[in-house]
Amino acid sequence: MTVFYLKYRPKKIADLDLAEVRQSLKKIFSSDITPQSFLFSGPKGSGKTSAARIVARIVNCEKPVGGEACGKCKNCKLIDSGKANLDIIEMDAASNRGIDEVRNLKERIFSSPVSLPNKVFVIDEVHMMTKEAFNAFLKILEEPPSNVYFILCTTNPEKIPETVMSRLVRVDFTKSNKDEMKTSLKKVIEGEGLEMGDDVDFITEAIGSLSEGSFRNGQKILMELVLARGKKISKKDWLEFCEKKYARGSYEPSMFENDLNKRNVKEILNNLELMAESGVDLGLYRQRLVEYFQKKMIDYFKGVDVGGLKIEENSYFLRLLINAFRDERNTVLTQLPIQLAVIDFMEKFGGGGEGEKQEKKEEKKEEKPEIKMNIGKPQARIKVEEVYSKWKELLAEVKPYNHSVEAFLRAARPISVEGDRVEIEVFYKFHKERLEDNRNRKIVEKGLENVLGVPLVFDCRLADKGTPVDLPAEKSAGDSEIYDVVKDIFG
Ligand SMILES: [Zn+2]
Repeated sequence: MTVFYLKYRPKKIADLDLAEVRQSLKKIFSSDITPQSFLFSGPKGSGKTSAARIVARIVNCEKPVGGEACGKCKNCKLIDSGKANLDIIEMDAASNRGIDEVRNLKERIFSSPVSLPNKVFVIDEVHMMTKEAFNAFLKILEEPPSNVYFILCTTNPEKIPETVMSRLVRVDFTKSNKDEMKTSLKKVIEGEGLEMGDDVDFITEAIGSLSEGSFRNGQKILMELVLARGKKISKKDWLEFCEKKYARGSYEPSMFENDLNKRNVKEILNNLELMAESGVDLGLYRQRLVEYFQKKMIDYFKGVDVGGLKIEENSYFLRLLINAFRDERNTVLTQLPIQLAVIDFMEKFGGGGEGEKQEKKEEKKEEKPEIKMNIGKPQARIKVEEVYSKWKELLAEVKPYNHSVEAFLRAARPISVEGDRVEIEVFYKFHKERLEDNRNRKIVEKGLENVLGVPLVFDCRLADKGTPVDLPAEKSAGDSEIYDVVKDIFG
């Protein structure tokens, strides 16, 4: 099997994975004058050499189209066949760093190209050149032969003398971002006919996190995965592979945080289940999460824009994770302490956002009963007007269970709904106390669920004195009725 990184090497500027590099090169090669000397700077595996080869093809193509090599002319074909390496010279400055080598290089630079119109020198790790070599090289750069192009590549642009730098057109390569890495991996997945189904986003994102922004690393990991697992790869395959290979859970803390932030409880709990099944050490994983969220907290106070969870959510979850440590000893279900921490978090900050909703369809198929709990609870999207309009129904619903509860509600009104929490305004302190009494609370909440179709909880708020009662019922609870109720309760 050809290494993916070589097999799927981009052939055109438009195929380059880094958006900014694509744009700069497009601009350079759409203009009338093509510079002869470039500096490609950026980290390893960011595609510098691939881009250099693309440039070599463009400057030799007989009929470039829209700034790209045609791929059809004899020069393009010669380069593609790999038979042009007398004219397209790739060398490594680390082993050609001295003055003698530069003199030697000079001879090659000034001799005519063999089979192409232009010679292209791609010099890797150019910052390794000695000072003398740089000086000698500077002379060449000042007046290069018209049929020679230089593409100097480096991971350390700051080590290149200013005088040399000023002669070069600089293109900065960066680590890939999440989307660029995904796109790059998906090209291979498609090209190789790999089957990942719905797990493709998870897997590509996880590979991206492990590859530290290097396309070469990313494709290497993907290749190893394919060699180990074949062409059909599920999330579970990936987790097992990763655990064996890297001895770590590959549900990266940043992905975990992202899901937590989206209140994607289902996804988190399932991933933790899968990790446990795949033999991931969840204790170690918890420790990684602690380190991750601790670092974010410190960064936040350094003034770094950390994104993701709010600071109070971040620190609250940290505390939950630390508490989870105690529980680890008390359960054989190693995933459970983190799962409980997630549920506590959702209880505190509200769970089941958009992410949760999108997941709904799949939920039914694959949900495991032991992690069901209350997580599948639909998020209330109830407006206070709806509660208000159903108030009479609520009264009827509640009455058979408890007459006084019904009377208290008759003398109360819903004033707001936040998530699944209805705030009810009451006008007497003892109404509040009675309604919030555990047994009565259950009756009211059951009634709310029955008439509105979603589980809701409520709080009572004591109205300011003199607030007029505005009731949906035809008749408000008169004082006499309240009196009856009081009699009812206190005898
Ligand atoms: Zn061509």
